[in-house]
Amino acid sequence: MSIRDDQLLQDTSRLRVGLIGDPVAHSFSPHMQQAAFNALKIEASYELWHTPAQELVERVRSLCEKDCLGANVTIPHKQAVLPLLDKVDPLTARMGAVNTIVHRDNYLHGYNTDAPGLLNALHEHGLGELQADGKISLRGYTVVLLGAGGAARSAAFATTEAGIERLIILNRHLERAQLLAEEVHQYYDKPAFSLSDPSFLISHPASIIINATPVGMHGDVSPLPADILARFDQDTFVYDMIYNPSQTYLLCQARTMGLRTANGFSMLLHQGALSFSWWTNQPAPLEVMRAALMR
Ligand code: NAP
Repeated sequence: MSIRDDQLLQDTSRLRVGLIGDPVAHSFSPHMQQAAFNALKIEASYELWHTPAQELVERVRSLCEKDCLGANVTIPHKQAVLPLLDKVDPLTARMGAVNTIVHRDNYLHGYNTDAPGLLNALHEHGLGELQADGKISLRGYTVVLLGAGGAARSAAFATTEAGIERLIILNRHLERAQLLAEEVHQYYDKPAFSLSDPSFLISHPASIIINATPVGMHGDVSPLPADILARFDQDTFVYDMIYNPSQTYLLCQARTMGLRTANGFSMLLHQGALSFSWWTNQPAPLEVMRAALMR
């Protein structure tokens, strides 16, 4: 038996995992995760657990039930769940945001799969190198991070941990970017800059521009003015964490300039695949999950 807790399979007919958040109805995760459980013939259901803030403690406590493998956590609870868990993995604790809870040996463990999910996505798009220890190295790259919220935090910690040459954080509110740069500096000894005015951006060779703001979800707006984008070298890669719409204004502009681009679909897929592996202790059926997302 390869699933993590084979005892659970013997004791119950159906296991449960769910998405904790408010709202949750829009999520693509049930499709992708249910397809993965079905493909591996694991008797489990992925459910939507709409959870207002006042019900969070009770919801997290319910994950200790015998038939529960764990949960995904989304807005606005990624930070708030941390003190409710028994163990949090060190990189996740640094990021201060949990998106995956695993019920293992009667304890609740917290992980962040957004960060490694982003690295796996970038690697799938041809960036970085897979090392002998299974980690992805982004040595030689400069990351220009647009945003300093939750998703940007994952990107900042993931990419600096992956060995980038420098991090430039551009955010509407400068203080938030400064704070993130300071936090990253505690573990990262290369340059980490913060800006609020994009006109101060300088192009570095091998840049990866990552949009971690919601700007572009609605209408023809971009988090980076076209004249600033035009300064970047032709080897620049532009990654937009937004996946709906699949082609944001930023990506369209970048493509028009001949730059390589990708949307956040790949990050969504890889973070989900990593969560699946944490719950089941099995490799995720990546192509099944990808196909389910595209349906
Ligand atoms: P968040 O914590 O609310 O942070 C939002 C960030 O965007 C902040 O830095 C904020 O700047 C900035 N921002 C918001 N509205 C802006 C505007 N009108 N102009 C300029 N900056 C603006 O959100 P999040 O959870 O990090 O999510 C950010 C985006 O990433 C969302 O689109 C989300 O869907 C996407 N995401 C995708 C994945 C994936 O798997 N593909 C995973 C996670 C998130 P201030 O600090 O100045 O307010």
